[in-house]
Amino acid sequence: MSDELIEAPEDGQQITLADEETGELNVPENPIIPIIHGDGIGTDVGPAAQTVLNAAAEATGRSIAWMRVYAGSSAREKYDENLPQETVDAIRHYRVAIKGPLTTPVGAGFRSLNVALRKKLDLYANVRPTYHLNGVPSPVKDPSAMDLITFRENTEDVYAGIEWEAGTDEVEQVKAFVEDEMGFDSTIHDGPVGIGVKPITEFGSKRLIREAIDYAIANNRDTVTLVHKGNIMKFTEGAFRDWGYEVAEEEYGENVITEDELWDEYDGEQPDGTVVVNDRIADNMLQQLLTRTGEYSVIATMNLNGDYMSDAAGAQIGGLGIAPGANFGHGRCLAEPVHGSAPKYAGEDKVNPTAMILSGREMLDYLGWHDAANLVRDAVEETISSGKVTYDLHRQIEGGEKLSTSEFAEAVVENIETLAN
Ligand code: NAP
Repeated sequence: MSDELIEAPEDGQQITLADEETGELNVPENPIIPIIHGDGIGTDVGPAAQTVLNAAAEATGRSIAWMRVYAGSSAREKYDENLPQETVDAIRHYRVAIKGPLTTPVGAGFRSLNVALRKKLDLYANVRPTYHLNGVPSPVKDPSAMDLITFRENTEDVYAGIEWEAGTDEVEQVKAFVEDEMGFDSTIHDGPVGIGVKPITEFGSKRLIREAIDYAIANNRDTVTLVHKGNIMKFTEGAFRDWGYEVAEEEYGENVITEDELWDEYDGEQPDGTVVVNDRIADNMLQQLLTRTGEYSVIATMNLNGDYMSDAAGAQIGGLGIAPGANFGHGRCLAEPVHGSAPKYAGEDKVNPTAMILSGREMLDYLGWHDAANLVRDAVEETISSGKVTYDLHRQIEGGEKLSTSEFAEAVVENIETLAN
């Protein structure tokens, strides 16, 4: 693997290792961390996040050896391909990495690079924390009630890419199979049709739901809510819910109880130290997040629901400029913001880098650098609550100072330095 792009001192062990059995990480003080800046505004928010994360690492006696790797348009320029194997290998090898957004044009002929990357590395859990920072304007009355972690299954569902285009021989074959052999006669209207398949496996569902329950137990969270549309999609989303309850009932003993047990056996009084697993239908859940925000703590759901749910929840705490995320699986972490590449703002040094910075915070937490991670969060909060914000928040508040992407990053660095001393 080429290491020409590593901006790092040569001395010292720089590779984050993981114990094969326990998965426990052994993190050096100056790890090599691959970074994909990404497309569109990725070239703005990527460097801004690096500046802030460097400052947090330095303030806590460490350093990050960044390794630029490429995907999307920058990879096409450099390697003439969208997702070079070298990029995938680097993330696999160095275990902990961060990426900006990658553009996926709507329409045929271009599969999502984000989906491809997550699938190639089998990063099956997309984890999106949604919490409010003081000073961030919000469309709801009490944004501080939102403190939610969404575990979104990352490899299955309609994102699996099993679909056929209208007018092709393949789609006619699938249509004939569905109608003639499976008996869904005259279910599909005549004329051009596109058909997709929605696979939801027991294996994929259970491993994601375990991650959510394990997280809830480790972080003293009260509930895990399985979000699904099983009333309509009985054998896919309904099965996800059923497998979720199976995991809860069969694998966690008395630490985890179902909502039915809570009422039948405990009269609604949750015993200390337990996690209650419940389920909600997705459309109801979207309104519950608005009306009964504080009742939800951890969500486990499938790929598409998770995408919708976390964007909507993100709006309640300040919008896409704020919402962080990270992908996990097999002892690896690829942090990335929830937002996309917002091409209309690309290269303008204008957008909010907070989502990318806070995704970096998730990465620092994963490395076990909790002091640095907390410093990042506190410094971002301090910056925003002092009225120093980018355009997206500036248009929602009275007064305040409108900063560019890079100026905002510098303001956060100043606060890191102040808070650390
Ligand atoms: P988007 O890029 O997230 O942008 C939608 C809107 O959200 C922007 O126009 C802007 O709103 C606001 N926004 C997003 N990021 C922001 C930031 N950092 N600071 C301030 N405001 C921000 O969504 P999209 O336009 O639907 O998607 C564009 C491309 O990104 C598509 O190709 C899509 O496939 C891709 N995408 C990639 C990922 C990923 O890489 N993980 C995720 C989602 C989408 P205003 O216009 O109101 O200012």
